[in-house]
Amino acid sequence: MNNDLYAQINPPHRLLMGPGPINADPRVLRAMACQLIGQYDPAMTEYMNQTMALYRQLFRTENRWTMLVDGTSRAGIEAILLSAIRPGDRVLVPVFGRFGHLLCEIARRCRADVHTIEVPWGEVFTPDKIEYAIQRLRPRALLTVQGDTSTTMLQPLAELGDICRRHDVLFYTDATASFGGNALETDAWGLDAVSAGLQKCLGGPSGSAPITLSPKMEAAIRRRRCVEQGIRTAEHRDGEEEMIYSNYFDLGMVMDYWGPERLNHHTEATSMLFAARECARVMLEEGLDKGIARHALHGEALVAGLEGMGLRIYGDKQHKMNNVTGVVIPEGIQGEQIRHCLLNDFAIEIGTSFGPLQGKIWRIGTMGYNARKDCVMQTLSALEAVLNRHGFRTVQGAALQAAWDRYDASAGVTR
Ligand SMILES: *Cc1c(COP(=O)(O)O)cnc(C)c1O
Repeated sequence: MNNDLYAQINPPHRLLMGPGPINADPRVLRAMACQLIGQYDPAMTEYMNQTMALYRQLFRTENRWTMLVDGTSRAGIEAILLSAIRPGDRVLVPVFGRFGHLLCEIARRCRADVHTIEVPWGEVFTPDKIEYAIQRLRPRALLTVQGDTSTTMLQPLAELGDICRRHDVLFYTDATASFGGNALETDAWGLDAVSAGLQKCLGGPSGSAPITLSPKMEAAIRRRRCVEQGIRTAEHRDGEEEMIYSNYFDLGMVMDYWGPERLNHHTEATSMLFAARECARVMLEEGLDKGIARHALHGEALVAGLEGMGLRIYGDKQHKMNNVTGVVIPEGIQGEQIRHCLLNDFAIEIGTSFGPLQGKIWRIGTMGYNARKDCVMQTLSALEAVLNRHGFRTVQGAALQAAWDRYDASAGVTR
């Protein structure tokens, strides 16, 4: 065996400016390098409680059940949908991008009766349109995506909670891509469940999904039966309703593990918990509102630079996420060639696109640890050079000057 093939892992240096994952904050990587402790060590259970308290602040909620699902963001989505949706339940999914389709697919696996409404990609829904569909379909749950990275659009959620309350509908959102970089008010907006991930604005690796559940959602979950009589000890197990078709994602059992009962379920992914706790700590140290404003600033500077280069921004700019920007690939330019050149010659990764947008736009992220001026300036200058090399002529230097102007304006600098 040629052991040279198996040298120590040493990934190449990259600046990750795509729609996620992005470079992790070094503080998060350091937290992950800490030694393990037992899952019932008082130090460990204390870290779990602290993690719950930190995420309550980030989700802007009083919800007791604010915790982690071990797995990537879609583990959080699946856990919530499997635990909340009973076979046959009618659900409504407003689809405005790829992740709306993911919610539909997962809901179908829960054997829900799935109904969708759609807007063209690059747009979002008005509250009226969603309320009209709720009145017509009478769903048990409304499943939304807050920021759909596939289109870069941010669905306004603030008015949907009241609508859901009036019609007795459970209200869920997948905030993976938007969380920490755009406002999200779990309690004020009447959300019953929210799930997120670390690898976007939180500046960590994928592999842990912070979630929060309202008391109403908790009650819905605890009405579900547990399969095995032998391990019934906690309240949710006396439920009347059809069982949850997963052990790992049975949030009733996950709650009993995170709660004072500490009933054995999975072994909490310790290093990921350290990462999730550090992500939240770092974000709260900066201040959530300041962090959101930072994402807005670097997103706007990037847009100014791209427009300064003569490129067009994709979609409804009024409803764009702060942290991801879609750029229309100019006529005659091969999108993939540009991406390869950026990666090979500058070690900068930007994103491609899916479905109807494939080959039409690039997606550039300014999020988490990479929502920084130096990252924006480097990406703009590299992209400008690569585009000129491939025959798209720009006024050289205009992009950086436009981005600088945006930064100076926010700092009150006049020249
Ligand atoms: C990036 C993203 C995810 C990621 O899910 P993973 O399971 O962590 O890959 C989920 N939802 C949305 C809206 C996203 O943008």
